[in-house]
Amino acid sequence: MTERAGSTDAPAVDELTPPNRTLMGPGPSDVHPRVLRAMSTPLVGHLDPAFVEIMNEVQELLRYAFRTDNTWTIPVSGTGSAAMEAAIGNVVEPGETMLVPTNGYFGGRMASMARRAGGTVVEVDAPWGEPLETDAVAQAIADHDPDVFGFVHAETSTGVCQPNVPELSAVAHDHGALVVADAVTSLGGVELRVDEWNVDVAYAGPQKCLSCPPGASPLTLSDEAMEKVLAREEDPRSWYLDLSLLEGYWGDERAYHHTAPVTNVYALREALRLVATEGIENRWERHERLAGALKAGIEAMGLEMNASEEYWLPSLNAVRVPDGIDDGDVCRELLERYDLEIASGLGDLDGEIFRIGCMGHSARPENVVYVVTALGDVLD
Ligand code: PLP
Repeated sequence: MTERAGSTDAPAVDELTPPNRTLMGPGPSDVHPRVLRAMSTPLVGHLDPAFVEIMNEVQELLRYAFRTDNTWTIPVSGTGSAAMEAAIGNVVEPGETMLVPTNGYFGGRMASMARRAGGTVVEVDAPWGEPLETDAVAQAIADHDPDVFGFVHAETSTGVCQPNVPELSAVAHDHGALVVADAVTSLGGVELRVDEWNVDVAYAGPQKCLSCPPGASPLTLSDEAMEKVLAREEDPRSWYLDLSLLEGYWGDERAYHHTAPVTNVYALREALRLVATEGIENRWERHERLAGALKAGIEAMGLEMNASEEYWLPSLNAVRVPDGIDDGDVCRELLERYDLEIASGLGDLDGEIFRIGCMGHSARPENVVYVVTALGDVLD
């Protein structure tokens, strides 16, 4: 029998020495040193009483960041898409209808998840780079009578912040639909008030404005949303993300479901402690101030923002690529010459915008000055 080359030899792989980048793209953002330190502390078992205490603290800190009293507030094991699928896959039952937006890449992902959950998808239209109009949502709700309405609070693909959330929630609730908000790029960086705005379900990612590595992703559900989940006739299609099973682990029982990513939970705890120490409103203000300086620097170079001032998303600055410039070349040069990460556009805006993040620990004066200077130099 012929042996396949390399199948028996131990691979000679060097010790890990990743480049030291400045992360100003759409996420992950620079991780705070305190979070990195928390990640190098010793592991405890995921059912250890000490870890149970840590779980309680993380839940409490998440409620603070989401501005909610929801009991059902947990980190989902996995990236933002896992929290997204836990939300949609549990609240959308087979045969139900979910209304999703067409104004960005992540509305499309909501639609895919709703279909996989056995739902029917209907759309409310708005161009990429614009928010949803309350009237358009009200009309779509009247036309389609959806069970669930999802929207993206901070659209990472267009740099648009959805401004009229309380109005959107009100029109959805008037028709008895649950409201699901994608807060992946807003939690901890952009004003988000889950309870005051009557959002039933919100999910987020730790690697954006919380400046934490990906791996444990925030999710919150109102009692009403959780009642619907617990009363489902058919189990959700995912065993791993079935919230009625996860209830056993994160609820009062603390029974084994899966092995929690202990280190990621430590990291999230420390990242959320930083949010609590700074104060959530101060943090929103810092993002706006520093991203405002970034925007001013970009506009002073003669570049144009993709989203209008009214809907500008401080955590993700979408900048139009000037005529005759190859966005990929610019991103590559920034990475190679400056160890600086920004990103190109996604989906409909591929090749048309740069995406420059200003999130969490990356939202610092030195990063803003660096990105403006380096981008100016590369575009010169
Ligand atoms: N939703 C939005 C708005 C996002 O920006 C992202 C990731 O960039 C996701 C969902 C998915 O998160 P993840 O890539 O962590 O799975």
